[in-house]
Amino acid sequence: MKSQIKQLKAYQPGLSPEALKKKYHIEGDLHKLASNENVYGPSPKVEKAMSKAVNELYLYPEPNAPELQEAVANHYGVNQNQILFGSGLDEMILIISRALLANDEKMVTSQATFGQYKQNAIIENANIVEVPLKDGFFDLDGILNEIDDQTELVWICNPNNPSGTYHNQQEIEAFLDKVPSRVTVIFDEAYAEYATASDYPDTVALLNKYPNIAMLRTFSKAYALAGLRVGYLIGQPELVEQLNVLRPPFNITRVSEQAAIAAINDQAHLKKAVETNHEEREKFKNLDTSLKIYPSQTNFVFIETDQVQALSDSLLKRGIIARDFPNGIRITLGYPAQNETIREVLAQF
Ligand SMILES: *Cc1c(COP(=O)(O)O)cnc(C)c1O
Repeated sequence: MKSQIKQLKAYQPGLSPEALKKKYHIEGDLHKLASNENVYGPSPKVEKAMSKAVNELYLYPEPNAPELQEAVANHYGVNQNQILFGSGLDEMILIISRALLANDEKMVTSQATFGQYKQNAIIENANIVEVPLKDGFFDLDGILNEIDDQTELVWICNPNNPSGTYHNQQEIEAFLDKVPSRVTVIFDEAYAEYATASDYPDTVALLNKYPNIAMLRTFSKAYALAGLRVGYLIGQPELVEQLNVLRPPFNITRVSEQAAIAAINDQAHLKKAVETNHEEREKFKNLDTSLKIYPSQTNFVFIETDQVQALSDSLLKRGIIARDFPNGIRITLGYPAQNETIREVLAQF
């Protein structure tokens, strides 16, 4: 066995609401706002599309999920050979890491970001460099300083999980102008649909100018299909072709394919979810609290504190399960009433 696997643990989900209720003697409802799921749920058209696919369950899926590929290609105005699907972005991150990172090659990302970049890089025995966040933002200059001849892969999570902060088009272009073209830069845009800032990057347009980049999107967050597991990469056909060698042949099920098509074709439903989220997120600005709340372009807020345990307990007592980090707490936005409770806790803390 690869020796590096012995130093890793399998992904640890938080305690279930039932276990937490017992542990903290909570009587009322508990709201799981720890995994950035979209509480409003997917388009109602998804369920219909899924039940239609049930008639074909005895058949293996078509290679490359061609109908979904066409729907995504139309949505972005790209070619079908630029799109690759993963069983969630989790699998896409695994595929990219496995393909690009050879022994001791360098992967550069941020210290406080999505954990799967590092997990997979360790498994590939890569040389990992994590640049600390700067005031809650990816430190793009710090990352540039770390890129050298050994560097193969750079991960930029934009907007970033868990900080919720983003970099705009101008900042991203200035960064890419300085990255050597033999280095692959992957933009993980799992929360892009939630970004309402007008200067949020148009990464698909940047693909023409910077052939060394690729963009990741998922149906798990704003499209509310986390339970189905569909994510995708959009990049150059050559990269897609190479990564496709590593993709497990039937990683997208027939049911998932039809569900995702229904979801992406219902942009009105997505728009409603994004607008509601934006309104709720705005209410966390200028909140009367001594806690530092990072500006967010996602469906969660990050609260910086050195009293993580105490804040987490205060939230739990009011029925809110958030996610703890070493320097703060990430809370997924829920329904308006839940968000109101969160703001009360933050204001009183
Ligand atoms: C949730 C998340 C993912 C994984 O999403 P799946 O498509 O559900 O696997 C990837 N990257 C970031 C930044 C995320 O927050």
